[in-house]
Amino acid sequence: MYKEMDKEYVLNTYSKNYINFKQGKNATLFDDKGIDYIDFTAGIGVTSVGHGNVRLANAIADQANNLIHTSNLFLIEHQAKLAKKISELYGQPVGTFFANSGAEANEGAIKLARKYGQKHYDGKRYKVITLAHSFHGRTITTVKATGQESFHKPDFSPYPDGFSYEPNIEAIYNAIDDETVAIMIELVQGEGGVQPFAKEEVQKLANFLKSKDILLIVDEVQTGIYRSGEFLATNLYDIKPDIITLAKGLAGGVPIGAVVTPHKNILEVGDHGSTFGGNFLSTRAGVEVLNILESYKNSGELDEAFIYFEEKLKVFASKYPKIVQSVVGLGLMRGFKCFDSVDLAKIIELAFNNGVLVLKSGRNTLRFLPPLTITKNEINEGFERLKNAFDKIS
Ligand SMILES: *Cc1c(COP(=O)(O)O)cnc(C)c1O
Repeated sequence: MYKEMDKEYVLNTYSKNYINFKQGKNATLFDDKGIDYIDFTAGIGVTSVGHGNVRLANAIADQANNLIHTSNLFLIEHQAKLAKKISELYGQPVGTFFANSGAEANEGAIKLARKYGQKHYDGKRYKVITLAHSFHGRTITTVKATGQESFHKPDFSPYPDGFSYEPNIEAIYNAIDDETVAIMIELVQGEGGVQPFAKEEVQKLANFLKSKDILLIVDEVQTGIYRSGEFLATNLYDIKPDIITLAKGLAGGVPIGAVVTPHKNILEVGDHGSTFGGNFLSTRAGVEVLNILESYKNSGELDEAFIYFEEKLKVFASKYPKIVQSVVGLGLMRGFKCFDSVDLAKIIELAFNNGVLVLKSGRNTLRFLPPLTITKNEINEGFERLKNAFDKIS
């Protein structure tokens, strides 16, 4: 019934599975028939503290009972608290602008970078270089910033000027010119095959950019909020970017985005804004999520979860050498890089039919983005079900 309703009234922009989920408990989802699924997707890296997290639910309910929204014309105490918490966990003196999504956070980052070029270089620096296989969002500007050519459909042209793409980090050096204001990269390309860049390569780039006063923007929409094992992948790579963007896991499923920067005085009053951005509900949720994950990390449970998950991936991959080429990614952002001949859509469908949800990334990578709080039992059960799926193809 809802399927027909959806088809009739919701615009058809997604190729979707019409299962009707009703409830979730940590990394397990239940549909309207009571059938359970192990969730190795976390809503594409969003439900960082799991489904039905009681602490998060209580914080949201309490906030909703008091105040959901006033506007940025007034102080929002949870926004101040969340910004402080981000700075403390990152370990750098940064300020944050709050938006509602990853794309919006990246838009904000690009605006900040352009304003930097305006202020320090009299408007002569405005170009942003990004990487092939990158993904930065779906607005007209962030789709243009996305390096995957398939996203630049002529249907939506003209696109804004000032974006170009390089095949890899090494190629960036020669692509920089007098008009380059910023380089925007992900440290692990979430939609581009879950391939982490080498630490030395990223550090070398960061140092070079610093010496040229070109801004480094790190899109941590997917890698941020402990997904890499550290609060930010930036911490893991031991770099200090000029701008970091966050979104997905930050508020556990409540829409939020964040532009984080040590350059606190570039954007001035009136330069940027958002009606919903940083409102009471989303920032209260964000504070709760960070408190939950901070203790989860400090207790050693997060490290234990990703070591356990990694071991499972490796053992699993070794059993299917004709399908899986290598295990990729880091932390709880992982993938099986499969051989080109493998039909990923088929694997995802078989996995679903066997009660486990997995994702695709790039052309040939099966992607795993479980809730960070996934238990060993859920991991075991998920891989058991995935085995049943793989056994049907090989
Ligand atoms: C998901 C994602 C985005 C876009 O976020 P939205 O909230 O969908 O706008 C941008 N960058 C990266 C790296 C992402 O993974």
